Parts: sequence; C-alpha cells; structure tokens
Amino acid sequence: MSFGVYVHVPFCKSKCPYCDFYSVIARDDKLKEKYTEAVVREIHGFAKYFRSDSADHVFMKTAPDSIYFGGGTPSLLTPEEIGKIIAEIDETFGSQDTREITLEANPKTVDKEYLSAIRSVGVNRLSLGVQSFDDGILRKLGRAHKAADALEAFREAREAGFINISIDLIFGIEGQTMEIWEASLEKALELDPEHISLYSLEFMEGTVFTRWLSEGRMKETDPEEDRLMYERAADLLKGAGYEHYEISNFAKPGFESRHNLKYWNLDDYAGFGPGAHSYMTDHLTGQGQRYYHLPDLERYLEDPLKVEFMEPNSYADDMTEFTITALRLSRGIDKYEFSERFGQDFWEFYGDLAKLQFGSFIDTGHAEEDEETIRLTLKGFNISNQILSLFV
Ligand code: SF4
Repeated sequence: MSFGVYVHVPFCKSKCPYCDFYSVIARDDKLKEKYTEAVVREIHGFAKYFRSDSADHVFMKTAPDSIYFGGGTPSLLTPEEIGKIIAEIDETFGSQDTREITLEANPKTVDKEYLSAIRSVGVNRLSLGVQSFDDGILRKLGRAHKAADALEAFREAREAGFINISIDLIFGIEGQTMEIWEASLEKALELDPEHISLYSLEFMEGTVFTRWLSEGRMKETDPEEDRLMYERAADLLKGAGYEHYEISNFAKPGFESRHNLKYWNLDDYAGFGPGAHSYMTDHLTGQGQRYYHLPDLERYLEDPLKVEFMEPNSYADDMTEFTITALRLSRGIDKYEFSERFGQDFWEFYGDLAKLQFGSFIDTGHAEEDEETIRLTLKGFNISNQILSLFV
C-alpha cells in the first residue's frame, strides 16, 4: 500500500469569489511562522500512531512516496518554512529518494529565486493555478494575477529546473466563449506542461459567486455548452499527446499526479493542517479510518494534535468509495484486483440490478466492460455523476 502526505496551507492574498477551499487572508509573517511550527508539532506528535512500541500504534510506518502542499496558497510560505515541514516529514516517516513533492503556486507569488529555493528544499513538482490565459476571464474570476504573470511564472519555473509542471484551467464561466476557451488551451499547449487539470466552474455553497447567482447578478453556463467545452478540451489535449487518465486530468506518459492517484485508488494518505482530511488503514483490523481537522486556523494553532475521528470505514464503505473514485480513472476498475483486495466479486457485491443498469450505459456508449475491467468512456465522463450514482 502506498502512502502520501498532504499539508494544507490555509493562506491566500485575497479570496477568489468562486472558491470554497479553506483559507484566511495572510495577515503577517508571524502567523505563517506559528502555522509552520504547529504543522511540525502535529507531524511530530502523529508519530505515536506509527511507532510499534507505542500504545497508540495503529498505522504501518511507511516512507511517503508523495508529499503535496495544497491550499490556500502554499507558495505564500517561505522556502525555509516549506523545508522545515519536509524535514519533519522525513524525520517522522522516513524519506524515499524518488518521492514526488508537489507545491501549488499562485503565479503572482513566485519568481525565479523563490522557485530555485523551493527546489533546493526538495519540491520537484509545481502545480500552477493559471485558470485562464485570458485577462477578462481572470478578472471575472477575481484572480490576483494576469495571463502575463502565468507565462512568466511558467518560464521561470523551467529556468529554475522544474521538469514536472501542472497547470490548472477553468471552463464554463459566464462570458467565456468556445474561442476564448480554445485560445487558453492552445496557449497551455504551447508551454508544453507535463500535466493539465481542467475544472468546470461550480457554484459552491457559501461563495460570493453563489450569492451573485441567487441575486441574478450572474448566470450559469448552459450545461450543453459546458460539456462541449470539456469534450473539445479532451480532443485537443489527447491530440497533443496527453493521456486523459482521470475525468479532470491529463498527463504526458509517466507524469500522472502520483499523490492524487492515492485519492482515486483509496490508498493511505495523512493530512496535516486545518481542514486537511486523512484516510489511513488500521494495520490490525485492515479497516480504513477517516479523520480530519476542522477548518479553523485559531483552533489548530491552539492544539494541532486535535483531530476528529470518524467511524471506521466498513468493508462496504471501502468498496463503495473505491468504486466511485476508481471509475473516475480512464483505466477503470480491474475486477480481479477488486476481488483480491476486498474478498468479494464486483457484481456480486453490487447485484443484478446495478449490473443491468450499468449495461444500459454500455449500450449507449457511456461505459465499457470486458473480462477484466469496467470503465467509463469520454461520453460517460460527461455524465459521470449519473452513472456513479448506481454504486452509492
Ligand atoms: S488563491 Fe486559490 S485557494 Fe485562494 S481563494 Fe483563490 S482559488 Fe481559493
């Protein structure tokens, strides 16, 4: 079982009106220093769950093969702060030479000196929150950067030696025509990143965009147009040599996000920082444990070791969660691996009705099944929520 570490960095320069990720405005450097110390304390304190001589020993100790700094805006931490956290992870869990260490960065917050410095503390993968190469769309999204900042950040990341860069792009925004969307995709392809993530704009509860929508100050993109944008992007990126390996993610061969694959494969990951979630397998029972920190920085700084444990996952929970996430992957589910892992045949678990209903999606070209695997097609990715609801 592979193991990843997630560190949530809850700071942003300003709040984007569409975003519901937990973050606070970074007021001063002292707060970030306190936060870094708290994360180091949390990781250090967490070691008791891994030590076989501890009464709290519950998880197998394994060196992580991926570390992911997500946010918020992790690039608001200094290279020294990032280095301290990586050093504590190494100290607590051990270190693997070939591990992937990703840092999400806002293009406006980095320069070549910063990028070289984070590389020297171990970061080897950069995820740039570009969102669009159109300044009008960036303004609409309330982003603090312009297209030129993203181009500059990408160039400087290459100069600093990053050979694994991911770019995030958003579509389905009011006023974003197919031409504007295609132009952003083409600009991304000119840069030739190793990985591209595409997100359809969602109106999340509690965001400014959702309020504007309810007040009639904003409109949702027509779902048909949204889906056409998705399909156009998939065509363009596949034509340029990217593998469409997950509903929203495209990678050049060998550059899939190792960390995010843990979520889709239901592998173990430990999350640190306010709002971070974890899924770890209890080494005695073999059951999955989920726990999380409340998204509350003040509370976290007071006691970073306080986590909320959930009920252990039952095998049925694990099978359902695995199915829902693994069907997001283009390779789908290997039925043999499924029965090896869970001790039950895939269709025996889901039953004849689900099999019949899934069969109707096969007939319409939304899904495929052969002896070994079941998977969704691109057409199926487009209505994935409807198909995945069969397995809930
Ligand atoms: S910078 Fe990223 S995390 Fe921060 S508010 Fe904007 S979208 Fe959300």
